[in-house]
Amino acid sequence: MCRGVNQRARVLLLNAALGPLDYRVDRDRPVVPGSIVLAPLGPRQLAGVVWEPETLPSDAEVGDNRLRPLAHVYDLPPIQAPLRRLIEWTADYYLAPPAAVLRMALASASALDGARSVIEYRATGHVPDRLTPQRAQALKRIGERQGLVRELAAVADVSDAVIRGLVKAGAITAVEVSIDDRYPLPDPDHAPPALSDDQQAAADTLREAVRGGGANPTLLDGVTGSGKTEVYFEAVAEALRADKQVLVLLPEIALTEPFLKRFEARFGCLPVAWHSDLRSSQRRRAWRAIASGEAKVTVGARSALFLPYAKLGLIVVDEAHETSFKQEDGVHYHARDVAVMRGQFEQVPVILASATPAIETRVMVEQGRYAELKLPGRYGPAQLPDIAAVDMLRSPPPRGRWLAPPVVEALEETLARGEQSLLFLNRRGYAPLTLCRHCGHRFQCPNCTAWMVEHRLMARLACHHCGHVTPPPRLCPECHEPDMLVACGPGVERIADEVATLFPDARVAQVTSDTIWSPAKAAEFVHRMEAHEIDIVVGTQLVTKGYHFPNLTLVGVVDADLGLAGGDLRAAERSFQQIAQVAGRAGRGAKPGRVLVQTREPLAPVIRALVEGDAEGFYAAETESRREAGAPPFGRYAAIIVSSEVQEDAVSAARAIGRAAPSVEGMAVYGPAPAPLAMLRGRHRQRLLVHARRSLDVQDAIRDWLGPLQLPKSVRVAVDVDPYSF
Ligand code: ADP
Ligand code: ZN
Repeated sequence: MCRGVNQRARVLLLNAALGPLDYRVDRDRPVVPGSIVLAPLGPRQLAGVVWEPETLPSDAEVGDNRLRPLAHVYDLPPIQAPLRRLIEWTADYYLAPPAAVLRMALASASALDGARSVIEYRATGHVPDRLTPQRAQALKRIGERQGLVRELAAVADVSDAVIRGLVKAGAITAVEVSIDDRYPLPDPDHAPPALSDDQQAAADTLREAVRGGGANPTLLDGVTGSGKTEVYFEAVAEALRADKQVLVLLPEIALTEPFLKRFEARFGCLPVAWHSDLRSSQRRRAWRAIASGEAKVTVGARSALFLPYAKLGLIVVDEAHETSFKQEDGVHYHARDVAVMRGQFEQVPVILASATPAIETRVMVEQGRYAELKLPGRYGPAQLPDIAAVDMLRSPPPRGRWLAPPVVEALEETLARGEQSLLFLNRRGYAPLTLCRHCGHRFQCPNCTAWMVEHRLMARLACHHCGHVTPPPRLCPECHEPDMLVACGPGVERIADEVATLFPDARVAQVTSDTIWSPAKAAEFVHRMEAHEIDIVVGTQLVTKGYHFPNLTLVGVVDADLGLAGGDLRAAERSFQQIAQVAGRAGRGAKPGRVLVQTREPLAPVIRALVEGDAEGFYAAETESRREAGAPPFGRYAAIIVSSEVQEDAVSAARAIGRAAPSVEGMAVYGPAPAPLAMLRGRHRQRLLVHARRSLDVQDAIRDWLGPLQLPKSVRVAVDVDPYSF
């Protein structure tokens, strides 16, 4: 029998619970590997991508005569081979269903829709005759925003019906939005800067790498304020000159706004932004422009990594050490590592930019697997700030206060000079724990192993893990005594209160995810800083990232010991990075900067390394202790999290998994034991920790181990390969 090669197609459907399925292809609607199609599944139709059967075995092969035909082949560019290989690699390495990874590439099924426009809604400014409180709230929250009915309803926190009512009343109107509009083209020669010699040398090497192509990961290791962005922009320009696309990954959407401004100044227009805050029309337009090659530069959060770029020429991971590149739910992947793999499959250079690179990245450089470019000094007249420790045992703050006298004095001097200060504390809210003085009751989240955190700004207690909130209590729920509740320890709000008490005339701003929750809010903050409408910023790790404020000359670290508690493998490294980054915000202009680090352990290696400016010594010691312990990157870990709403189910399933653990040379299994968050969002969690030699195929071992196990339906098993913290 003779049959055409294209008669049968293997399709990876957008349903993580399904394996790949085979379909019949019509002669007049041919497909190739990568074609995006619509396929029937039972009574429904599902989008998917045609795949090579060799690389995607199916255990549900159906005879030719029983194949169902494909429903539709989209008129979209096929997913190219390098991205298909990346999807396979990611699924394999992180033990995830390929369909779950594919979903990130297709981003939103609506992107596949052929329509060239959508109908969105926005406020007209007309106030309806009947203005119920709900309608008033909706109009206020919507403001200038535009979007689908359900998007506006979500913004306003009302039902769709309220929005539709406002449309009928003429307060909101429909607008047609073209998703076919072209993006402006960035001009590589719009406003090139005059580079310093160090910068020039680094930029030349990167430009060369872009011209030459080929996989080529490079660590761009430059101190804070050295101009890493200016340097990698030259590589971006080179890719543009070659008519290639560029992806720039940023750790946090809140950071994109200042970045966008700098990009615009350098290239004459904005890049295409990709993050979870996009409206569906924006997402669709961006996806199509990326897939067609029209979007020249995409700036995005980690999810931009899997998009189907038509002609990728360069990937940049900015602030590559950032922990937010590690995705902790769904597919557990590390965007920095996947970026390097994408560079390899696409054969394009990858630039990892950081002032405080991860030990993993440094070791890759030492082993000669990544190249390294250094920018040893700050750009222009700016000098690295002086860092000093403030011993909290020797000069403690007064009772009920958290800022030590030397820090208060420094704030005062800085204010007097008309300069700006920043206080860093990585803890949102007013106080991390509320306790009854009478009976000792502590307010705990009912869904998580976590204290309820007091938020005075929002007047409630909140769990930072599941979002559970309660109104602030007046009585103790245990002993019913009134007025006995006390707030224990400081959060950002409490420090801001203290500052306001100390300096009633100072203009204080809080910067946390509670106050900066959108790119627009970040832009507003940057603007107020630049216009010097703020004297003192009190913020969480959100302020450690990438910001550049020339008039900011004092940084105070409120509690340098906070990150060292817990004994996590990466605690010291992360503390070092965080403090070095926040210190790096000081003295970035012509005026020198000063950093005061409050600690009870001024002799701890992390603190000493910061004060003495001995990053090399610190990293060398950390790297050595990892090597001795066989910890990453010299050995590997994988965490197996077993969870259930029923505690006994979680425990017995975890035990069963433990009993079934294979004995493999070079691999050890610890646990089960309660996971670090023993209860999370109402699920009880047990954990097994796998520790393996670098050379061992730990994924294979785990697949063989977990694959055949039959567990109760209530039990969920998630594997975190290279877990970030434990
Ligand atoms: P990093 O990312 O290394 O911390 P940035 O790229 O933010 O440093 O640069 C710090 C500041 O110095 C920015 O305001 C940047 O615009 C400026 N800068 C750096 N290099 C140059 C240059 N060659 N010409 C003009 N300004 C520069
Ligand atoms: Zn909770």
